[in-house]
Amino acid sequence: MKILTKELIIESRGNCDIIDITDEVQRILNASNMLEGICNIFSIGSTASVTTIEFEPGLLQDIPKILEKLIPTYSRYHHNDTWGDGNGHAHIRSAIIGTSLNVPFNSGMLMTGTWQQIVLIDFDNKKRTRRVAVQLTGI
Ligand code: ZN
Repeated sequence: MKILTKELIIESRGNCDIIDITDEVQRILNASNMLEGICNIFSIGSTASVTTIEFEPGLLQDIPKILEKLIPTYSRYHHNDTWGDGNGHAHIRSAIIGTSLNVPFNSGMLMTGTWQQIVLIDFDNKKRTRRVAVQLTGI
């Protein structure tokens, strides 16, 4: 059993920017020479999420639209009263969607579906440089 930990550095525009990181994660797996195991992808920070979607233009509009209805950017958040940073919505979206994802891999390939991409979604209200941990555990 082997463990390998790497970090991706990703420039984001914030405001529900959805970024496909599948290729970068697969590249880390390729370089590891590992064949079988689990890949954990973790967004470092509490205003972004890692999940999977079909990365296509419709969903890139639908997801921000639905989240804006469920957890509006401009609403009363106690977090904003505390810090005045205006990103209470971003913390809540991140907590609900989640900050990490486990993807099994086999024969050196992530076991994602053809229409399933790994995405980082940045909910913060400004552009950010994001760190994403990618940790492989396997053989
Ligand atoms: Zn905040």
